[in-house]
Amino acid sequence: MNVIHSNPTIPVIGIANQKGGVGKTTTAINLAACLTAGLHKRVLLIDLDPQANATSGLGLNKDSGRSIYRVLLREKTLSEQISKTAYKQLDIVPGEVDLAGAEVEIAQTQHPILCLRQSLANTMDSLVYDYILIDCPPSLGILTMNALAASDSLVIPMQCEYYAMEGLSLVNDLVRRVRENANPNLVIEGILMTMYDMRTKLSHQVVDEVKRHFGSLVYNTYIPRSTRLAEAPSHGKAVVDYDPRSSGAKAYQQLAQEFVERQEKA
Ligand code: ATP
Ligand code: MG
Repeated sequence: MNVIHSNPTIPVIGIANQKGGVGKTTTAINLAACLTAGLHKRVLLIDLDPQANATSGLGLNKDSGRSIYRVLLREKTLSEQISKTAYKQLDIVPGEVDLAGAEVEIAQTQHPILCLRQSLANTMDSLVYDYILIDCPPSLGILTMNALAASDSLVIPMQCEYYAMEGLSLVNDLVRRVRENANPNLVIEGILMTMYDMRTKLSHQVVDEVKRHFGSLVYNTYIPRSTRLAEAPSHGKAVVDYDPRSSGAKAYQQLAQEFVERQEKA
């Protein structure tokens, strides 16, 4: 009798950097949209940030009643909290402002940093996606720890600015800690240079330095500074939908391609 492995585990990828405003959410939304639109992948995006920018950036109401909050408190299953987005193959578990308060409640549960990992494990069999992406908040608190404990790998967006390396060493420390305590197999999948400006010497210097430390982990695709990328969320759209010809849209399409190639090689 042939054994059919109908549900290989779905890769879970955290998009993390404790530094604020480096392009985590922009990457979560646009990578997810490009994976679905151009490459026909099925993606679930989990918005783990109390700011819920990924939720509103995809045009969803932050108060829809569905949110990752109840999942983390183990009141609802993950599948019960999934919402559809305007993009056919892209679903989301929305974030909500109450998540900020949830940190205290989650801390009182058993194994607080494993809440997300456990709910994903319980529900994995019923999910039909090629990738699960998690948009993390800018902190090293319990929510980010949950994301790191639940992820197979991390994409770390880094803004091309002077202090970028400092932030990265903090992420590296955290990855080491989570590996020791909760998730020994966690790896950095890729480092993504964001808000790259090819005309400035600083952008080149930062990329050179990050590459010296992290070599081929740095994606070949750099995300340029693009006003279209910054405008798209206020229209509730991914940039490939808002302005498909913009430099930002092209860069995220290229990133999605590179991301899939790396995943398929792994
Ligand atoms: P936070 O840490 O607060 O969650 P973040 O890391 O998720 O922030 P984003 O929200 O993606 O960062 O980006 C911060 C701001 O910069 C947003 O206003 C976004 O629209 C803008 N932005 C992100 N990437 C780019 C880019 N490549 N070009 C221009 N603006 C960008
Ligand atoms: Mg964000």
